[in-house]
Amino acid sequence: MDQSPLRERVSDAVALLAGKRTIRCPDPGCRVSVRYRHVAPDEAKRLTDLATDHTRH
Ligand SMILES: [Zn+2]
Repeated sequence: MDQSPLRERVSDAVALLAGKRTIRCPDPGCRVSVRYRHVAPDEAKRLTDLATDHTRH
């Protein structure tokens, strides 16, 4: 499995162009991320909270 950071950034950029959003956990070394598109604001907030609060995953 290729875990190159560059490849990951490219993937994020492509996702962004497609109207998607990717949120990553801020915890160093944690690879949790949440990607979504066209979701309701409440759901987007829930996903953001989940992705950025390391105590919840
Ligand atoms: Zn995390």
